[in-house]
Amino acid sequence: MKLLANKIALITGASQGIGRSIALQFAEQGADVLFTDIRADERSQSLLDELKALGVRAAFYAADASSLEQTEEVSKAIAEEFGRVDVLVNNAGITRDTLLMRMSAEDWEKVIRLNLTSVFNYTKVFSLMMMRQRSGSIINMASIVGLNGNAGQANYSASKAGIIGFTKSIAKELGSRNIRSNAIAPGFIETAMTRQLSDEVIAHWKQEIPLRRPGLPEDVARVALFLASDLSAYVTGQVLCCDGGLSL
Ligand code: NAD
Repeated sequence: MKLLANKIALITGASQGIGRSIALQFAEQGADVLFTDIRADERSQSLLDELKALGVRAAFYAADASSLEQTEEVSKAIAEEFGRVDVLVNNAGITRDTLLMRMSAEDWEKVIRLNLTSVFNYTKVFSLMMMRQRSGSIINMASIVGLNGNAGQANYSASKAGIIGFTKSIAKELGSRNIRSNAIAPGFIETAMTRQLSDEVIAHWKQEIPLRRPGLPEDVARVALFLASDLSAYVTGQVLCCDGGLSL
């Protein structure tokens, strides 16, 4: 029996990187996969094709995760076509790295709005569906930077620390409805997000990782699979680091 048979999963910002890998692993484990991203393009189309080729139902919604109005539109469309969501992965995220002295109010607000307010939007709207179902698993993509901080990432680390507090509060609020809420804190994962960094910074981080390799999106997707499935039926309010030991 596949781990996510008969489940419907929704993943935000999944056209590339970690979200894409989660979408594919969920589909391989039998889930119908619905995903969003800021716009429709060749990445979203190719993921849609790959998911359908795996024999599951799949759908894509172009929506800005930081907009509550657009989140409600996505929810309406999903309610009409699929009727339920069993697993929600709040994955969409951005960086606008710079030292505090140079950080503009716009850099701050953009990162908080997309990384943190998006988690509020999707959790608020889709937990209603889960409450009616009396089951659900919510997985929020935090970061080890939300636990430990990082110079040059005050906006990003604040958004990820916020996600951790939110995750724990929701676990307490919704546990009695059999809805679980957990966070994943990835370390240094090879995606477009980390490819923006300089070679020097990348070399530094790689050297600091006890497992001596950067993470792959698939490494994070396997943790998401655990949290999405009944393997983690008694796990809620937790932050699972997926970082090769980097945060130790
Ligand atoms: P990525 O940049 O490859 O993918 C992010 C996705 O989010 C993109 O597809 C992008 O189009 C989408 N997105 C951006 N703005 C959006 C919006 N307004 N609405 C909807 N979608 C939007 O990044 P990734 O490395 O795959 O990161 C995924 C998540 O993992 C993020 O939350 C990130 O903060 C977190 N994370 C990544 C790392 C890492 O090392 N890569 C480490 C820790 C945490």
